[in-house]
Amino acid sequence: MTALERIASCVDGYDPDALPVETARRVIRSLLTPIATNERIAVRASLGRVLGEEIVSTVNVPAHDNSAMDGWAVRGADLNPDGETVLREIGAAFAGKTFAGVVRRGECVRVMTGAVMPAGTDTVVVQEAVRIDGDRAVVPPGQKTGQNRRLAGEDLALGRVVLRAGQPVRPAELGLLASLGLAEVTVRRKLRVAFFSTGDELASIGATLKEGEVYDSNRYTLYGMLVRLGVDVIDLGVVRDDPDALERAFHAAAANADVVVTSGGVSVGEADFTRELLAQLGEVLFWKIAMRPGRPMAVGRIGGAFFFGLPGNPVAVMVTFYQFVRDALLALAGRTDDFALPLLRVPCATEMRKKPGRTEFQRGILTCSADGTWSVRATHAQGSGVLRSMSEANCFIVLEHDRGGVRPGDLVAVQVMDGFA
Ligand code: AMP
Ligand code: MG
Repeated sequence: MTALERIASCVDGYDPDALPVETARRVIRSLLTPIATNERIAVRASLGRVLGEEIVSTVNVPAHDNSAMDGWAVRGADLNPDGETVLREIGAAFAGKTFAGVVRRGECVRVMTGAVMPAGTDTVVVQEAVRIDGDRAVVPPGQKTGQNRRLAGEDLALGRVVLRAGQPVRPAELGLLASLGLAEVTVRRKLRVAFFSTGDELASIGATLKEGEVYDSNRYTLYGMLVRLGVDVIDLGVVRDDPDALERAFHAAAANADVVVTSGGVSVGEADFTRELLAQLGEVLFWKIAMRPGRPMAVGRIGGAFFFGLPGNPVAVMVTFYQFVRDALLALAGRTDDFALPLLRVPCATEMRKKPGRTEFQRGILTCSADGTWSVRATHAQGSGVLRSMSEANCFIVLEHDRGGVRPGDLVAVQVMDGFA
C-alpha cells in the first residue's frame, strides 16, 4: 500500500472502484497542501488574487463624523419637538472643506454630503425639509437628534480586522484596501498548472484531420476553465499514447507546475498502461467514481505536483473539472473562504430516468418565466461526447447519489455555471 492509498482508505466509504462523489471530494481535500508563498503587489493587480495577510485598519473610515445628506447641520438640543425652529445660518461646510468655527445655540451651518460635521453640531436636516427666510433656516418639527450623520469609523474602525488571509480580492476588497490608503498588498503567489491531452487520435487545430482523428478540444476547454480560475497555465500540447513521450511530458509538467491536469488515458482500456507509468513517477490513485459523466479519474502526486488525470470525453472533462478540480485548485491557491458552488432548488420541466447509486450531472437550461418563476430543463443531447450540451447549458442539474428519476415538476438541485469562475 502506498502512503496515498493509506490516507485515502481512512476516509469513510472509500472504494476506488465505486467511489461516491462526496467521498472523492473528501479524499482529494485530505491530500491538498495549500501554497503559502506570498508576494507584494500593487492594489489593482491584486484583483482575483488570494490575500496573503490579515488587513487591520490603521485608521477610522470615515475619519470624522460627516453629513450623509445635503442640508443644514444643527444642534439636536436646539430643535423644538412640537413646532418650527428658527436657526441662524453662520456658514457652510463642503466635502473636503470644513467649517472652521463652532456652532452655538440657535445657529446652524449649510452642509453638503460628506462634509465634516461642524463643531457643536450632531444632526443634519435635509435641505428639502428646510424653509429659508433671509439668513434664517426654518426647521419643521419631527427631526431626530443624530439623524443623517455618518459616524467616524462606522465603515472601518481603527484596529479592526478588515480582511483575512485566504480571502479572494474582489472589486469590493480593492475599494476597501484603497479606503485604508494602502498602495500595495500581500497576496499568495499564483498557482501554476500544467496541462496536456493524451491520445493517438488527436489532431491539433490547424492540421488537416486524417481518417479516425479528432481535433483536440479538451485543451481548449481546460485552458478556458483554468484561466478563469486565475491560475498561471503551462500548455504542454498533445502527447501520444506512448510511454516514453508520456514520461517526458509528466516530468516536464511536474518540474514546472504545482498541479498537473491531463485528459484521456484513464479509461479502462488505457488505464493499465498509464497506471504502470505513473506508479514509477509518483503515487496515483485510479478511481471509478459513481457519477455520470466522468466515471474514470486519477488523482495523486507526481514529483512535487498534485495530479488530476481526467477522462478523455469532452463533457466528462468539464464535469470532473468543475466538480473536483475547481475546488482543489482554489484550496491549493490558499482560499479559506466558503467557495463551494451554491445549489439552488428549482422545479424541473424534463422527465429524467435515473437509478440510485450514482450522482448525475445533466446539462440544464435555467430560465425565468414571465411571471417570475424559475424552472430548469435538460439540454437535448446528454452524451458525454456531446460538447454542444455544455455550450447550450447554463447550469448543471445535479441528481444526487441516492435519488431516483425525476418527474416533470419535481424539485432538482441546480448549479449555475456563471458562478464557476
Ligand atoms: P479516453 O479517455 O482517452 O479513452 O478518451 C475517451 C474519448 O474521448 C475518446 O472518444 C477520445 O477520442 C475522446 N477524447 C480524448 N481526448 C480528447 C481530446 N483532447 N479532445 C477531444 N476528444 C478527446
Ligand atoms: Mg485516449
